[in-house]
Amino acid sequence: MTNESIDSLYEIIKGTAIDVLEITEEAATNFAQLATAQVAGFFLRFDNVPGCLILKNVIFNGKRFIAEWESVSTQSNCPLCGKPSKQEHSRHLYGEMVQDVGIQGFPLWHNINRKKYICTADYCIQKNFMEGFPGFIEKRYSRMTVNLVDQVLNTAVNTSSRAAAKILQEQGAEISRDTIIRIILRRGAKEVEKNFYDNASEVFNVGIDDINLRKGDSSTSCMVIVNLDTGKLLSIVRGTTGETAEQVLAMFPNLEIVSRDRSTAMASAAQALDKTSVADRFHITANMHDAIERTLRETLPKTMYIPVGDSWVCLSSSNESDDIVVANVPYSLTENDVTQRVRMARLSGKAEQTYRNTLRVLELTLQGKFAAEISEIMGIPTEKIRKLRSGMRETIFDVEKKIDELIANPHGSRRKQKSVSISARHSSKSKVEPYRDTVVAMRKEGKGHMAIYNEICKLGFKGSHSTVDNYIIKLERESSIDREIMDKRSVSHDYFGSVPERPSRISVRIYSVKTVYRRVLSKIKEHRYENTEEEPESDNNPSVTPTETRRNNAIPARNRMDLPLELVNVLKWGNTDSAEKNQVAIEVNHEASVEHYMSSIHPVYDYMIQFGVDYHNFMDNSDPTGLLEFIEKYKNDSYWRLAKFANGLQMDIDAVKNTLLHPNISNGLVEGINNIIKSIKRVGGGKAKIDLLTAKMVIRHLTKASRMVGNIIPLQATS
Ligand SMILES: [Zn+2]
Repeated sequence: MTNESIDSLYEIIKGTAIDVLEITEEAATNFAQLATAQVAGFFLRFDNVPGCLILKNVIFNGKRFIAEWESVSTQSNCPLCGKPSKQEHSRHLYGEMVQDVGIQGFPLWHNINRKKYICTADYCIQKNFMEGFPGFIEKRYSRMTVNLVDQVLNTAVNTSSRAAAKILQEQGAEISRDTIIRIILRRGAKEVEKNFYDNASEVFNVGIDDINLRKGDSSTSCMVIVNLDTGKLLSIVRGTTGETAEQVLAMFPNLEIVSRDRSTAMASAAQALDKTSVADRFHITANMHDAIERTLRETLPKTMYIPVGDSWVCLSSSNESDDIVVANVPYSLTENDVTQRVRMARLSGKAEQTYRNTLRVLELTLQGKFAAEISEIMGIPTEKIRKLRSGMRETIFDVEKKIDELIANPHGSRRKQKSVSISARHSSKSKVEPYRDTVVAMRKEGKGHMAIYNEICKLGFKGSHSTVDNYIIKLERESSIDREIMDKRSVSHDYFGSVPERPSRISVRIYSVKTVYRRVLSKIKEHRYENTEEEPESDNNPSVTPTETRRNNAIPARNRMDLPLELVNVLKWGNTDSAEKNQVAIEVNHEASVEHYMSSIHPVYDYMIQFGVDYHNFMDNSDPTGLLEFIEKYKNDSYWRLAKFANGLQMDIDAVKNTLLHPNISNGLVEGINNIIKSIKRVGGGKAKIDLLTAKMVIRHLTKASRMVGNIIPLQATS
């Protein structure tokens, strides 16, 4: 039954009452409200109300439903001693209002008239007590039914208390934010207590991790303690010191393994308690990555300009002496190559200058020069150098694009053909007319108007070069010269008889350290898969490497949305023409250039990859000997961060060895829980305190299970 149907039912009753009973509107309203509630009440499903309660009446007063109950119980258990008693205290019934899950957005209250009993056990100090309704109302004096409390917890666990209050109010609960918080805290406390007392002996493996509730505030740093066997949070603990950890861990008598990050505080705690301490794989790997990233940051320039393509040549450094290690071999283009590109792109004088300057800037940048130094060398303002550098990729790309245009359409004209008005004077009236023979002869040779202009100037011509150009156009239009000349002109470029072969494509990649770092990680990953024989995913097809499998399994980018093929064709999403394939081939080629460049110019690149591969060699194979070899290899490394990492492993050698011995123990669960904590903290605007966060976290798994039964259908239509 919906709100509308309740409303219309109400309207019908009210209208009928006025017509039939001839009563006032006010009386009819009251009557209709009562009657509607009575009718609606028949359809209410009070499935969790105990049998000893008899429904006496249902009132709908326009704002809320009130169900009146009377107890007809004959006995009840004493809350203190648990003994059942049949002796009623008096014939008097004690009314109490208890709220239930709302009906159709209206609050539902139960007015329960219950009995008082006398405890008959002579050893019990409880003289008399109010009867309780377990399963319906949890606590004897609770103002909410079990179902409503469940609804509150379900709603509040994943959102802020303020938002939860709003949602619940919309669903018909008369509840405030404070009440919600109180309910969560109460239930949370119960769970935490269970974790540390009732169920403490069932905790065998725990994971510990640090979390900071307020970023940058060390006073809010906490420990997250997770039962690794159940994946559930045991509690959040304030502070991260060894003593704190020790105290908490001592609560679990049967604890065997403590998985932790590599902070020494935790190490000492586990040691003090004589527990097996396992350094968490996730954290060690994170530290390894950190060492790589920082080393790259400290070693590489902030921005790297990487020339890709086959045309770049390595110029040998000017000082050839062997004892100077040339770190940066400049990459450049040969002069012939540059000239060819400029011609094929048909660059104007100014554009050519920009192109040449850009290439020079690139070359000097690759030598490790700063903008100011380059400015000095080239005699161009620093500002201009920066501009050239920031436009480098586009400038070079643009020339390539123009070369492509020439190759694609060698007879097409680069610029718009100059046109001369039809009404202009006839060519025979032109100042150039006296030199007609020379002009025609030179045009036949394919010479441009500038060449012709220079030539006839020597013969005494006094006009401008554009006059010559106009004259040529007029000649061609008037068909007063051979078709041969026209063809020559339409070839339209001044340099080539036939279009030369395309110089190989070049471009510049601009990499940040972060990009390089990502490349290093992905290279390490590639090597890992190469090295591991048995890779879980690819067991049915050992010839395919996992990376390949993954690539093959990926949905083709063309039709990920699974649209009808005609539509895909209309939208041109399926368009993988040869140009695109060509692009892929070029990309592969360019990838190789980048690799080559990084390896030769920045040796730290290959070194970091090797470092990561060495790490995974002992980690993935759980090889303690490999661990020792790794430490030996890197503990005095010239990259101090790598040395620091290796020494860190050395200091914590037992725990790291345990990591290799217990490959199944991992703090991955703790990380997952950490992330949930962070997200819960965020929905509350980051204001949630440690107790509320803990409560929400420990309640989480309870509410998930009860969600299915928590939502009862309050009204049942019978039509
Ligand atoms: Zn008792």
